[in-house]
Amino acid sequence: MKLTDLTGKQVEVKNCLGCEIVEEKISVMGGLIFKGKHFSIAQDFELPINGFIILSSNRHIEKFIELTQEEQFELNTLIHKTLKILEKNSVAEEYNIILEEKKGVHLHVWLMPRHKWMIEKFGKVLKNVKEIQKYAKENMRIEENLSKIQQTCNLLKSQLNK
Ligand SMILES: [Zn+2]
Repeated sequence: MKLTDLTGKQVEVKNCLGCEIVEEKISVMGGLIFKGKHFSIAQDFELPINGFIILSSNRHIEKFIELTQEEQFELNTLIHKTLKILEKNSVAEEYNIILEEKKGVHLHVWLMPRHKWMIEKFGKVLKNVKEIQKYAKENMRIEENLSKIQQTCNLLKSQLNK
């Protein structure tokens, strides 16, 4: 399967995208930000949105109820830590935390920032997630934005790996 990454580059993904990211078989812009015992953190593979961070389980599971207690605890702790760093550094003030279960899709959590431009252009963010993502892919693969994304990844990397 060919996917377009957030910079516009075509990438061949042979197996599960989530597995390939946590096993570092394909590279995401900003690299793997953090690898914990059970969860890994990276910028979203496809979306050029600053602070759009994904937490993926290190093992291939698809449902939230498959998580052990230890995994649940690590996930919760990592979401909390990541949001704290993002907020402290004014990446965005508010976030939606989204987990969508889908058959055949690797378990992952979206930390979706609620940027001003989203509200100005689209109003209610959750109602317009698809449109916002389409807009970002069409309009935000620009140098200035990509360098902001890289900066946020570097920031998270340095803070989470302390
Ligand atoms: Zn997987």
